[in-house]
Amino acid sequence: VEYRPDVVHESGMRASSSSCKAPIPCPVCSSGDLRTLRTFSSKEAAQAFVVAEGDRERHDQLHGHIESLWGTDQCSIRDCQVCGFAFADPFVSGDKIFYDLAFPRDGYLENKFEFSRTIEALQHIDLTGPVLEVGAGMGHFLKKISPSLLPPDRVTGMEFNPRGVETMSAAGFRAICGDLRSDLSFQEKFQAVFLFQVLEHLDDPRSVFEKLNELVLPEGHLFIAVPNIDLIEFHEQTDALQDMPPNHIGRWPVSALTHIGASHGFEMVASAVPAYAFHRFIRHDLGYSYLRRMQRRGTLANWSRRFRRMRGGRAIGAAAVLAAAPLRLPVWLRARKQLPKLGGCLWVHMQKSARPSGKTEHRE
Ligand SMILES: [Zn+2]
Repeated sequence: VEYRPDVVHESGMRASSSSCKAPIPCPVCSSGDLRTLRTFSSKEAAQAFVVAEGDRERHDQLHGHIESLWGTDQCSIRDCQVCGFAFADPFVSGDKIFYDLAFPRDGYLENKFEFSRTIEALQHIDLTGPVLEVGAGMGHFLKKISPSLLPPDRVTGMEFNPRGVETMSAAGFRAICGDLRSDLSFQEKFQAVFLFQVLEHLDDPRSVFEKLNELVLPEGHLFIAVPNIDLIEFHEQTDALQDMPPNHIGRWPVSALTHIGASHGFEMVASAVPAYAFHRFIRHDLGYSYLRRMQRRGTLANWSRRFRRMRGGRAIGAAAVLAAAPLRLPVWLRARKQLPKLGGCLWVHMQKSARPSGKTEHRE
């Protein structure tokens, strides 16, 4: 049984990094009123992506690389008391080397809540395009809306993975390999822009929204999906999955998205969190809590890791997953009460005001 988080390596951008060591104000609202949620060491971070007992060499490389990105050996998650944004400090995105080491196989899901929820919203819009998806992966979402809702020549996908760019070109879309903030080749403005599971990977969110303000037509639409922070916090509080930087460096609640949208000409139209079936939660929790125990030496889960590639190794892993089930029971009962707010992602729909653009307001 191979358990993997639902959200894997889908960043559409590799942001430039800055090595800022002094405590930084909130990157969304500039407030200095921050609470530290937790602090991770570079060793813990490396262990969360690549368990040393499974692959020592890759773990050590990753450990060194995370320290070079951070410019230090630890990183704290700060929670802004004003807008609700929580962020990694140092606020530095993972780069290509990080993603190649941490997620050697890329995974792109074909069906996601945010895809179906966005398509539902698009039914109520007189969709003529053009549209842009940032971090479009293999183009799974774009293929759901084109050619059914829009001709392919009205569709642009932006993606770092060359395989994704090829796949999208083959489908007749305009495909760009690049970064939203540095790519200046856009001659057009878009009726809708999609960013699914992208924003949480990026530093400098205000530059991203400045660019979005430039790119979206007046009255145009912005659809965003990010991991649901209620679920992240639940997992972290119950010793399951840790949402580790520098993969995810921003945690976005509706309040922070509303704030940054409003400062850049976008109004919140709707937000939604998917339903979470109890049996799915249990399955994920068994997997995530196993992964978490696996990171600790001396646990059955950690020990089971060394047999992974051997004959019968998977059966040993599965036994280690199931052995913990009785211990997870109190967590499941707790989750059951909160289930409606624990869906895997937060989806939002924003709309740009009808006023001409260029009215970006900066709140310092
Ligand atoms: Zn803030």
